[in-house]
Amino acid sequence: MKVNKCSTTVKCQSKSRAHNNNTDGHTTEEVEEEPPGKSCVFSDEDEEPPSKIDISKHRLFGGIPKAIWNDWKWQFRNRITDIDQLTQFIPLPLEEQTNLKLVTMRYPLSVTPYYLSLIDPDDPGDPIRKQAIPSILEMTMASLGAEDPLGEKEDSVVPGLVHRYPDRVLMVLTDICPMLCRHCTRKREWQHGRWVRTNNEIEAMLEYLRRNDSIRDVIISGGDPLTLSTSHLESIISKVRSIRHVEIIRIGTRFPVVLPQRIDSELCAMLSKYSPIWLNTHFNHPREITLEAAEACDRLLRSGIPINNQSVLLRGVNDTVETMLRLCQDLLRIKVRPYYLFQCDEVQGTEHLRTPVEVGIKIIEGMRGYTSGLAVPTFVVDLPHGGGKVPLQPDYVVSQTENELVLRNYEGRLFHYRNPKKQTHIKLKDEEPSPVAYTTKLLNNYELESKIKGTENADRVVVRS
Ligand code: SF4
Repeated sequence: MKVNKCSTTVKCQSKSRAHNNNTDGHTTEEVEEEPPGKSCVFSDEDEEPPSKIDISKHRLFGGIPKAIWNDWKWQFRNRITDIDQLTQFIPLPLEEQTNLKLVTMRYPLSVTPYYLSLIDPDDPGDPIRKQAIPSILEMTMASLGAEDPLGEKEDSVVPGLVHRYPDRVLMVLTDICPMLCRHCTRKREWQHGRWVRTNNEIEAMLEYLRRNDSIRDVIISGGDPLTLSTSHLESIISKVRSIRHVEIIRIGTRFPVVLPQRIDSELCAMLSKYSPIWLNTHFNHPREITLEAAEACDRLLRSGIPINNQSVLLRGVNDTVETMLRLCQDLLRIKVRPYYLFQCDEVQGTEHLRTPVEVGIKIIEGMRGYTSGLAVPTFVVDLPHGGGKVPLQPDYVVSQTENELVLRNYEGRLFHYRNPKKQTHIKLKDEEPSPVAYTTKLLNNYELESKIKGTENADRVVVRS
């Protein structure tokens, strides 16, 4: 058996996490389906030469055989969760180690070996590192922001179910995530230990859904719901799907980014049974679009699950036009739609990662026109106290009168645009007339209106149903 420095470390981490999980029933029940550490036994014969894309992985985790590396449960069990473990992969000065130990007492650390392997250990400004590795600024700037800026607690109708908009609800099944993103909106939950909703709590949520037939869209989120076992997830999704008025189910997950191995054929086959299911994920930087991530997305797409991406605008991670352009173009290349670019919420412990709102608007301005519209996400601010999402974009209207607008295009050139006059809309009656009779009636009505108003332009009829 060959055990190098990194693989020994990983092996020990499994043992220590096995101990932790004995005190944490939920995690053990939902995720740890195999004895911890079982997969950490390997031999030289298992090893494969590193490919080009594996250079970083092999630098940090050189001894891990591919089959084990690609086992999502192994990845999950072997998350790096304390600063002493972390320093074996990323060099940290002693003072920084001390500081980060203080930070993790309030805001814990959790990063998968896979995501850690994407970090350049020698670059303190690495954009992947900023999302995963704690910073002392989480504490020194902690007076800014709020614990729950979006007021999610206020909108909970039963524990775990947020009903803010008329036709959709958010089901929060767990607070467990494979990685604790330093910019997380639900960072407040990290201090309360790990939990998964009980069967009774889930039944209460389902009962609320059954009783409210205005709900046509259910968003299943967390934490990350894909930390649940596939069979447990199926038992919930199948019950949601059996509610007649629920038209679509959306799953919010960062697994395709931080642990793409989770998107296995078993999960995809299960999800494909409950179509239509949409999946929202969270790529923030082009370097997160690895071969593994692309393959995970491809498996979902081939199972009939469309994928949208919701990035968060983060200082030093993706706050330039060039990075966001590259990210969104690369997302389209793997057939993931760039959907939202979120202004980072004003959450305590995230201020150092927030950018002025103008930065987001400038990024959209720098993308619009320079690349396909499909690659341009909607930049949104999620308002405090449950005010909802507000889209922001550059102002392209230079001036406006009743008859004309002066618009600027993406190059800054000005164009005059005639503004059509308001027209009377004719409503359809309940009974459906024949197309010929209906058109004749429209024309007659329009002629009458034209005469009344003295309108000369009689070649346009507008119908709105
Ligand atoms: S995956 Fe989402 S919920 Fe989980 S820590 Fe990251 S941002 Fe927060």
